[in-house]
Amino acid sequence: MFSHFGAHTSDDVVTRRPAVCDVCGVYAAQPVVKRSTTFTAFFVRPFPVKRSTYYAECENCGHARRIDH
Ligand SMILES: [Zn+2]
Repeated sequence: MFSHFGAHTSDDVVTRRPAVCDVCGVYAAQPVVKRSTTFTAFFVRPFPVKRSTYYAECENCGHARRIDH
């Protein structure tokens, strides 16, 4: 029961875009991940506790870079 109470962070891949990685320099598809934190409580719909952030992840080296929309 109490596991449904608290802040929860989830990552969702919203799109993929080809780009050159800042770290390894490889041109590859980079998944764009939306990270959102929601607060969940008993019988209350989850609501966001802070603004969602977006990250582009390199599929070659795994480096994640924050991007602003
Ligand atoms: Zn890379």
